[in-house]
Amino acid sequence: MSMIAWLLLPWLAADPPLAGPPDVAAAEGTRRATVYLDFGGGWLSSGSDSSLGQATCAGNPLRYPIFLGSERAAELAVAEARRLVAPYGVRVVSQRPPPHLPYAHVRVGGHPDALGLDPKLNGLACDVDCDDAAHRDTVFMFAEKWVPAAALEPLEEEARAVQVGRIAIHEVAHSWGLEHSGGTESVMARFPSAGVPGFVEGCMPLDLDHDSECPDARTRYCDEGHQDAHAELLALFGDGSADTVPPHAAIVWPPDGYVLEPGQTLEVEVEVGDDHGGFGWMLEVPELHWEHVARDVDETSLRLVVPQGRFTLRLEVLDHDRNVGEAEVSFEARWPEEGEQEPAEPSATCACRQGGPGRWWIGWSGLVLAMGSILRGRPTRAAGSISTR
Ligand SMILES: [Zn+2]
Repeated sequence: MSMIAWLLLPWLAADPPLAGPPDVAAAEGTRRATVYLDFGGGWLSSGSDSSLGQATCAGNPLRYPIFLGSERAAELAVAEARRLVAPYGVRVVSQRPPPHLPYAHVRVGGHPDALGLDPKLNGLACDVDCDDAAHRDTVFMFAEKWVPAAALEPLEEEARAVQVGRIAIHEVAHSWGLEHSGGTESVMARFPSAGVPGFVEGCMPLDLDHDSECPDARTRYCDEGHQDAHAELLALFGDGSADTVPPHAAIVWPPDGYVLEPGQTLEVEVEVGDDHGGFGWMLEVPELHWEHVARDVDETSLRLVVPQGRFTLRLEVLDHDRNVGEAEVSFEARWPEEGEQEPAEPSATCACRQGGPGRWWIGWSGLVLAMGSILRGRPTRAAGSISTR
């Protein structure tokens, strides 16, 4: 059998024995999320991936301003943001998450002027993302209007910093698909509240100048024109209980110790999953300084072409409580020695999952990765490269 044929064999065979289809009904309501409050400013450009510094409503690239308040003000804002999402499976962080974990990015700083917007705005979500279809949104909290400097009276600073956290979460909630509703008790009210608002349980009238943008999501819980913010977030993210279960990570192909010829195409197949949806994953070959971040968890197909040498292929799967699932195989690319047979088909040493898919096995994906990537500026074809298809 030719080398290519047996490279492709496991791909063809992979579906039924290895994979139950993801349990979509169970996955609903159990996807978790991370919110990153970013006080550090930095490059902003147009696009849909928060981990690349992008926002869908950004124009020409610009340096977004930093937060001008004190460290304490930033801590208070994070604490308020955490209070608001504590009932849900949402984690708030102030350190940049790794790029393979999908996160909502809040740019905390600047003034609406920075984006050429109405100076009356406190914040901005690029759109109301019904049912949180996109997981890598960027939103803005125009903090200079609230905390223009670090030299505020402590009590004044505290009150303003709390509003920074609230407005940040209000904007993120638009990126989860919520709209304006309720009054002083509601963090989704159109105007910031001086009280202690939350995501209100029960149906509150929408406060809109136009029709609802997500009528299907609203009427799942309420009559038309109303919103149950609490019920919707609970359905999207589940409750806030701790998650200590590491994600599943397996490299289905190649098996450990696999041998191929330099320049031949290696079809990589991985299996990833977790007890909650929303996790992310990445693959790397450290010896080649190559890594591939799955920007979309269901993304397909990766193909590597490697030069001569011994390599490690490492898979990392990460969930929102930062549990890690890892798998690793080593493989070698070399020319057959004189008289040597073509490498024999390896025995079934893949780290395949044992047993059938349990109900907790949510978000499972069996993936054949077929896209080569050139990363780190390596050349396309020369030996020593990973080539693009
Ligand atoms: Zn709003």
